[in-house]
Amino acid sequence: MRCFSCTKLSLNILCQKCQDTLFIPTVTKRTVGTLEVVSFFSYSAVESLLHTKHKPEGYRIYKALAKMTMCPFIEKFMETDDRRLAIIGVDERIKNGYSHVALLTHAMKYPNAVPLHASLMAKNGVSYSGKSLQYRLEHPREFVYHGPWGVDAILVDDIITTGITLQEAQKVLLENGVNVLFALTLADAQEK
Ligand SMILES: [Zn+2]
Repeated sequence: MRCFSCTKLSLNILCQKCQDTLFIPTVTKRTVGTLEVVSFFSYSAVESLLHTKHKPEGYRIYKALAKMTMCPFIEKFMETDDRRLAIIGVDERIKNGYSHVALLTHAMKYPNAVPLHASLMAKNGVSYSGKSLQYRLEHPREFVYHGPWGVDAILVDDIITTGITLQEAQKVLLENGVNVLFALTLADAQEK
């Protein structure tokens, strides 16, 4: 196949050279409310990749991104934390054949880390893309949690913009006895 970024022949959807030079994950943290959010890229750095969401090529792109970020992160985290963890993706809805968020959480499967696929779903399928803060506040996603009570969890989503979605997800999980340690997102789209 060809590298999605540079179009050179490659074994992977993102060739090693592009991975090593263009898309280098850098861990950044920010806090929204009481939730710490860890991200790996600035949104602008991976915007072209994230736009493949819901498209056929997005399946491979999100899988590659998960391998570059979520895999090493959980491996390292588990070296120092031996708790049993639930990995909970935000609204793992299947669209055009796959859930891009489920590709991220699936990559975090580890002996003591168990993805609870599709356990936190939004009743309201509203898209926040390009919408104002006011609009987001007035149209909550209305999450419903179907997973077990009393677990420690890492919350996972692809992008953090305002953090409203993650905070709403955190609130619903708390109400269901889930202890959210922190959230992980691929990219932070905060305007600076
Ligand atoms: Zn390339």
